[in-house]
Amino acid sequence: MKVIKIDKNEWADGVEKLHDNYRLIGAVREKSYHIFATLKPGQKPEMEYVNSRISPKYVIYPQSEIILECSMDENDEDYKVYHEPGDKNYEEKAVLGVRPCDADSLPLVRRNFDTDEYKDPYWLQAFETTTLVGLACDAPCPSCFCTSAGSGPYNDQNLDIMLVDNGDHYLAEILTDKGEKLAGAAGWDKDTEQGAEDSIEKRKTGAESKITSKVNTDNLANQSLLDLYDATIIWEKAAFACINCGTCTYACPTCWCFDVQDEVHGRQSYRIRNWDSCMYPLFTHHASGHNPRGTKLDRLRQRFMHKLKYYVDKYEDGIQCTGCGRCVSLCPVNIDIRRICNMMNSYDPESCTCEVTAS
Ligand code: SF4
Ligand code: SF4
Repeated sequence: MKVIKIDKNEWADGVEKLHDNYRLIGAVREKSYHIFATLKPGQKPEMEYVNSRISPKYVIYPQSEIILECSMDENDEDYKVYHEPGDKNYEEKAVLGVRPCDADSLPLVRRNFDTDEYKDPYWLQAFETTTLVGLACDAPCPSCFCTSAGSGPYNDQNLDIMLVDNGDHYLAEILTDKGEKLAGAAGWDKDTEQGAEDSIEKRKTGAESKITSKVNTDNLANQSLLDLYDATIIWEKAAFACINCGTCTYACPTCWCFDVQDEVHGRQSYRIRNWDSCMYPLFTHHASGHNPRGTKLDRLRQRFMHKLKYYVDKYEDGIQCTGCGRCVSLCPVNIDIRRICNMMNSYDPESCTCEVTAS
């Protein structure tokens, strides 16, 4: 890894140059919050934002995506024969200012789209053509708990470049070949002053110390799946308030549920993959009319059991959450994954109680 210096007064010029080679996506203000959006030439990404309302996962996994198409005209060769759309655009793109917790969600989501049996060509091609320019996080929100969820405010493992705000300049860790290529295209190649790496380390320690909110996950793998499933003390309390709005799942960088719909427009038929949510009754509604998750308790339990138990048991590599805090701050009825996680972690099936140590 090498570290370079990008003066803030030269940052905009570099970003402008990148438009020649990349579609640029960055944080922009919308009303009172930030979202990730494609930047127009001349538009700079906001680098002072705290957390975007929706994660930039849509860059690789669009909210709605045509995956197959066919003609409905019987004179055409592909009449009712589905094939991949010919105009799929996998141009090089770069996400500027992505937070480490959002970048850390990608390997978790990849487990769903890149398996030994099945490789999703859409997700993988979009991922391969995306360069992630991260922004280390110096001012975490009170709802962030990344340090106990396998991530961290200076975690650079899943980034191509990590920028560290150092006053009038960024210290930029160049972490991969993709990052090297992007820095070259932007003309960023200034050497840093001595001690840059120490300075990053010091800032990292400072940022981590600001994250006081934690989840306990050490006992999740030991817990019996069936005991947790039957832990009414957890699920009845939490489900009472839930309105199954799905906000938590749409905002989450690690949620991957989708459904597939066929739509006909004129003489063309499209097979479209859309984000869906385990919080919605239709998601599991069978054609027979039966719904295996017919109550809101079933659906809420599914969300937390998936993230904090099924995933833990299946992959043996932590929870399906990076601690970004979005579902905590956006849930309209204050259902808090940190509290649920601590309840699941400390649940005692003998006494049907749990010790909740954080909220
Ligand atoms: S955001 Fe809150 S109320 Fe809405 S579905 Fe999620 S847990 Fe339920
Ligand atoms: S479960 Fe909540 S805190 Fe965890 S990654 Fe998803 S939105 Fe963020």
